Amino acid sequence: MKTIIHGQIFDFIKNPSDCSNPGDSYRFLVDGSLVIENGYIKEVGDFNSMKSKYSDYRIIDHSDCLVMPGFIDTHIHYPQTEIIGSYGRQLIDWLNEYTFSVEKNFNDREYAQNIARLFIKELLKNGTTTSMTYATQSAVSADAIFEAASEYNMRFIAGKVLMNRNAPSVICDTVESARKDCECLINRWHHEGRNLYAITPRFAITSDMEQLKMAGELHKKYPDTFIQTHLSENPSEVKTTLELFSDCRDYLEVYETAGLVDDYSFFAHCIHLSQSERQRLKSAGSIVVHCPTSNLFLGSGLFSLKETIESGIKTCIATDVGAGTSFSMFRTLGDAYKISQLQGYTVNSLESFYSVTYGAARALKLEDKIGSFRIGNEADFIVVDYRTPDIQKHRMNYLVNQGKWNVENMLFGLQTMGDDRNISATYIMGMPAYCSEGACISES
Ligand SMILES: [Zn+2]
Repeated sequence: MKTIIHGQIFDFIKNPSDCSNPGDSYRFLVDGSLVIENGYIKEVGDFNSMKSKYSDYRIIDHSDCLVMPGFIDTHIHYPQTEIIGSYGRQLIDWLNEYTFSVEKNFNDREYAQNIARLFIKELLKNGTTTSMTYATQSAVSADAIFEAASEYNMRFIAGKVLMNRNAPSVICDTVESARKDCECLINRWHHEGRNLYAITPRFAITSDMEQLKMAGELHKKYPDTFIQTHLSENPSEVKTTLELFSDCRDYLEVYETAGLVDDYSFFAHCIHLSQSERQRLKSAGSIVVHCPTSNLFLGSGLFSLKETIESGIKTCIATDVGAGTSFSMFRTLGDAYKISQLQGYTVNSLESFYSVTYGAARALKLEDKIGSFRIGNEADFIVVDYRTPDIQKHRMNYLVNQGKWNVENMLFGLQTMGDDRNISATYIMGMPAYCSEGACISES
């Protein structure tokens, strides 16, 4: 349980957007090491000095690779794992045709357990060590995903979906059954091991105000539970919401009325927001979650990262699988870059990677546990082979010859061309949870 990880150590110490020189936002040790004891970071430093200081520690050699904190995916649906890449629909039709029909299966415990295990393996293979995940309306489906994450001792956030209308009855709950199920799940899973609970109304169309208010009451009763839902993803969704809640002047007011807007609230998408909604999200300290591959795939619109960041709203980037088309955070960041390029705003690769590591940890108020290599943090990290596939190596050699090879360029190559092939290993609490073929862990 006493280990030195020898590698090219990289983590953020600040938000790059707050630094006049973004290069001041991170730490990079080319010949570095992570010293880990009983799953926690004990020290970070130069390899030779750590090796002599901790001479009785087992050394694991990842010196050819980048060693960085695991990714944090703040918006994803595990029951949609199998419907990833379903053709030809926009949000509401996509939900009706694909999502609601697969979610029925999760009333069955065994079905839910199988997909939950598959999902967790896929996260680990892609270097994601924490995710905030939707289950379905069935409490069984929430149990299944918490159990699967617990098998790997992951820091994990999930919640049962609340949905009492505008969906097939077999995947609907009621206000009272949802209250009862949520309380049971919170008591069973919130702070149990490394698990945390998120109160999860799917979105305003599928819950009436009574159910949304019940969700708000639950959050008041358990104030450190998270809230996750969707907001202003698609123009016809916004229109239908305002028809259903005609007393509300805009979409956000629906959630405000229900007591669901505070600094534990994660709102996915937020593409079609008014200035007033942006201002109110900022004042509440809520978090906006940009899901680029999903927005492109469903044709929902182009999220303005620039406007959101300039409004001072906390912003994360996430996959939104299964409307999102990849579990890979590299691919997700690559699409976020392209969406911003279409709007004339070039996102620095440091800002991108911050948003899925330390930035996400701060948004979750978990920065004293995950997201960076601070002393005392839980040792969830990934080993990244930035020279794979061959074309990355050629790109690197070219940049080295030009004298332009640096951390920003390395990260940019990963987000532009990388995927799960670049993840050599994923560690949870200092223990290997995934190892790619041919990248066996070697001791030196
Ligand atoms: Zn979603």
